[in-house]
Amino acid sequence: MASTASYIVGNWKMNGSAADVAVLQAIAEAAAANGHVDVGICPPATLIAAFAAAAGKVQIGAQDCHAKASGAHTGNLSAAMIREAGATCSIVGHSERRADQGETDADVAAKAEALHAAGMGAILCVGETLEERDSGNAIAIVTAQLAASLPASASGDWLSVAYEPVWAIGTGRVPVAEDIAAMHAALRATLVAKLGEAGQGVRILYGGSVNPANAAEILAIADVGGALVGGASLKAETFIPIIEAAP
Ligand code: PEP
Repeated sequence: MASTASYIVGNWKMNGSAADVAVLQAIAEAAAANGHVDVGICPPATLIAAFAAAAGKVQIGAQDCHAKASGAHTGNLSAAMIREAGATCSIVGHSERRADQGETDADVAAKAEALHAAGMGAILCVGETLEERDSGNAIAIVTAQLAASLPASASGDWLSVAYEPVWAIGTGRVPVAEDIAAMHAALRATLVAKLGEAGQGVRILYGGSVNPANAAEILAIADVGGALVGGASLKAETFIPIIEAAP
C-alpha cells in the first residue's frame, strides 16, 4: 500500500564513520517522536549494517546498487547484498552518479527494477543542470528523464521520485516555490501517463539545499511529498528540524 506520509530521507554521500551511529540514534529518537513522518538515512555502504542495528523506525538505505544479481562486477554491490546488510531501500540515479559514473536512464531503470525484485524500495533521482534550467526547457528535459528512468513495474508501494535540480545540490540555491510546484505537477502528470492510477501513489520528494530554515516552506508546496537531504542530514541538529517541519 503506497504511503501518503511525508518522506524525509538523508543522503550521507561519502561521509560518516562508525562513531556517527550516535547521530543516527538521535535521528531515530526524533523519528519515533514524529510518527506521522517516514524517515530514512542512506549512509555509505560500509555503515549500513551498524546503522540498521540502531535504526528504530528509521529506514536505512543504500546510495546505489548494481542492476545484476551477481557476477564479475568488481567493486559493486547487488540489491540482495545491501538488503542482507540491513538496507530496505536505495537511492538510484543520483546526479552525482549520472555525472561521475556515466549512468544512463536505462541503467537507472534497471537498478530500480533490481531493487524491486529484491523486495526493496527505490528513490529515483531526476533533475536538470543549470544550463538546462537557463535554456527554458527544464520541465521537458526532466519529465523525459523520468519517463526513460522509470521501470515498467513502478508503483508507490516501493518507488519514490526525487526531483533534485543539479544546480541546487550543495549550493545553497533553491528554485522559487512556483518552479518547484510546476516541476512536481509535470512529474505527477508523467507518472500518471506512464503508470495510470498507480502514478498517483508515487511520492515525489524535493532535494537540493533543503535546510531547517527553508524546509517548512518547501514541504508545504503542492505535491511535494518529502525531501531528499544531503549536507543538512549529516548532523542531528540540522536534520531533526527538517523532520519536525514535515506536515
Ligand atoms: C543531494 O545530493 O541529494 C542533496 C540534496 O544535497 P544537498 O541537500 O546538500 O543539496
